[in-house]
Amino acid sequence: MTKRTSQLPGFYKVTVTERRTLVSEATGVDAAAIARSLDAGGLDADTADKFVENVIGTYGLPYGVTLNVRVNGHDHVVPMVVEEPSVVAAASNAAKMVRAGGGFTAEVDAPIMISQVQLVDVADAPAAERAILAAKDEILAMADRATPGLLARGGGARGLEVRTLGTPEDRMIVVHILVDCRDAMGANLINTVAEAVADRLARLANGKVGLRILSNLCDKRCVRVRCRVPAEVLATDEMDGQAVIDGIVNASRFAELDPYRAATHNKGIMNGIDAVVIATGNDWRAVEAGAHAYAARSGRYSPLSIWRRDGDSLVGSIELPLALGTVGGTLRVHPSARLSLAMMGVTEASELAAIAAAVGLASNLAAVRALATDGIQRGHMALHARSVALAAGASGAEVERIAAIIVEARDITVEAARRALDVLRTERRENATGAADDQRPGIGGA
Ligand code: NAD
Repeated sequence: MTKRTSQLPGFYKVTVTERRTLVSEATGVDAAAIARSLDAGGLDADTADKFVENVIGTYGLPYGVTLNVRVNGHDHVVPMVVEEPSVVAAASNAAKMVRAGGGFTAEVDAPIMISQVQLVDVADAPAAERAILAAKDEILAMADRATPGLLARGGGARGLEVRTLGTPEDRMIVVHILVDCRDAMGANLINTVAEAVADRLARLANGKVGLRILSNLCDKRCVRVRCRVPAEVLATDEMDGQAVIDGIVNASRFAELDPYRAATHNKGIMNGIDAVVIATGNDWRAVEAGAHAYAARSGRYSPLSIWRRDGDSLVGSIELPLALGTVGGTLRVHPSARLSLAMMGVTEASELAAIAAAVGLASNLAAVRALATDGIQRGHMALHARSVALAAGASGAEVERIAAIIVEARDITVEAARRALDVLRTERRENATGAADDQRPGIGGA
């Protein structure tokens, strides 16, 4: 029996193959299955051709894992698909700090999605609203008949709302059918419902059918995550933990008071959330649309998370809508997405939403801590240096070597990496021919 853990010390130091073995041991997922589902991105061109149109190939992205994540007392090795250096390391580090305070606690709303039916040319909006509300049970039964599979799984229509939009001259109302989508993201299910009930609603309203589509502002399907971080684990070489808490609270207040900062604060959150959403085959555009619409719900764009001091601890909380599925969509056909769920040990959409939001809060903590202490560039550029080394033509073990050299020289440019690579390779050739001299690799003249 596997003891599911998300703590794998030294993970970053070992090879890709060794990491697969460690993840296999920690999660119980067969190492060969990990290789099969990830090599070549898990998706060949023929399969991709079934997903979308006009396919001529696939596009690879790095697949990493965030460690140390503990949500509601359960450990998860969390897959992240992201191209930006430092996102995975930052989330793992922050999750470790949160772990010192007991891990993340999460609560997730029922998976209620909103089906919108727009009705136009409605002459008497109040009368239309009365007629539709009076027919509520009939409409909900129609919605359920349109999605029998969902009904059989315990989901289905849960409520109905009518909203009048604009002024009487707009002659427009919208009906919301609230549907419990269980473990599906729900877009197709919800669109089916909208189309099934629209004609009947138009007759009841004495108007015409307009748009029939889900809302991505799924604000009845929110997830709330909290964490508590003891001051001592937040300390850096230059700042004690108490000062770091003050800095992070100031960073939070900045985002609460300024939409320009809030946008970047939320981008840091979505670094973590999107990476998990993509790794699990979910629709990240839908998640992004919902998150930012929710952030602006008061009329002023605001941060999705806030940070406060509580005694000697830092307390963080995040709230956002998250429409994620563990069934349906492209999930069942993408091997890497299925692997991601197996690695996390997740079958329910609510659990996936809790983990994704926790990783978002961890990413946010890492960013605001860095900003409130050393600044973001030190850690970021050190990791960015590896991409720069790759761009300069380094391969294999050269990548780490060259990255270290250009970081040390504080010249993280492709030019500097090329010069260092030339020196390194010349030195290696000379060593191989026994003609080594004592020249050290460096950045020409630096
Ligand atoms: P889907 O169409 O695959 O429907 C889910 C299916 O899974 C249903 O047939 C359902 O009966 C079945 N199912 C099996 N087990 C289930 C369980 N435990 N809980 C719930 N259903 C279960 O997928 P979907 O989630 O309705 O739609 C998601 C797709 O729609 C995504 O690919 C998304 O990109 C796309 N989409 C998004 C938008 C948008 O966000 N605006 C619009 C259109 C389409």
